[in-house]
Amino acid sequence: MSFKNIIGQAIAVRSLKNLIAQDQVRGSYLFLGPDGVGKRTTSIEFAKVINCERGTEDPCNTCVSCVKVNSANHPDVFTIYPEGASYSIKIEKIRDIIYQASLKPYEAGKRVFIINDTEEMTEEAQNALLKLLEEPPRNHILILTASNTAGLLPTVLSRCKVLKFYSLGQDQIQEFLQGGDIEEEEAILFSHMALGSLGRAIDFKEKGIIALREQVVNDFFFRKSALFREKVLTEHIDGEIAESLYMLLCWYRDLLVSKFTDAQRNLLNIDKASEIASYAGRFSKEKLEKDLLNIMKTIAYLRRNMNPKIALFNMAVQLKRA
Ligand SMILES: [Zn+2]
Repeated sequence: MSFKNIIGQAIAVRSLKNLIAQDQVRGSYLFLGPDGVGKRTTSIEFAKVINCERGTEDPCNTCVSCVKVNSANHPDVFTIYPEGASYSIKIEKIRDIIYQASLKPYEAGKRVFIINDTEEMTEEAQNALLKLLEEPPRNHILILTASNTAGLLPTVLSRCKVLKFYSLGQDQIQEFLQGGDIEEEEAILFSHMALGSLGRAIDFKEKGIIALREQVVNDFFFRKSALFREKVLTEHIDGEIAESLYMLLCWYRDLLVSKFTDAQRNLLNIDKASEIASYAGRFSKEKLEKDLLNIMKTIAYLRRNMNPKIALFNMAVQLKRA
């Protein structure tokens, strides 16, 4: 990897390159933008290039420092993620960072702390981090990544230089996918379904998520009368329920979209364009809006640990209702 391989984030990459060129790399940064658009990759490339022994504009990927970062073995590059059942970054993790920052870098370069998904950091942890964010010791850089600022304290935000990352274009994702070993037809479908997130498109490719679409659309859209059978509910609970509901959401979203436009490029389920156009005609706009809302509510209930069988059953009843 190098900066050259980061797609669609020219503004952020240019800002970072300028900072490096002007020897202005210091303090704390927040990489802000949707999931799966390159924030983590960019943070690693940045850590690599500011420690690269060649000192070129792009990391060389061959010096000892670059090789260590690439294999996640660099003693001065720390990567932190939310963890545990609560999927959060707790104060203990931040205390570790503060302790590490009190030591001199092990190697000659800059010490980089990459704290991912900081919107999941507890308030206590954020408060503990403030002093370090405000004024990291010499040669210490903090990079926070977040998909939104809702969970971040204003005092955290105000201490970081914010670099914005943006959703990618469908064509950019398609082009990237086709650079790998993937059929054109799949690249087109995945790039539409990914809603601007390359990470999401790669998940489609690697995890076979599209197969879930066939099942969930069949069970909850076509065969609604079968819903009250135990088997259908149980199958979805055993399967990947969050992904399934996301697929169902995309399906209903497309039905609604196709009531407003004939342009196929606006669809996510691009491979089912003619089916979607014909089914959309059978439902009113109001009904489709209500259905979308129901699916979104179900997703929210399940996140809050509502019993999945009850949540799916209720959703099915609502979808069936005229
Ligand atoms: Zn290097």
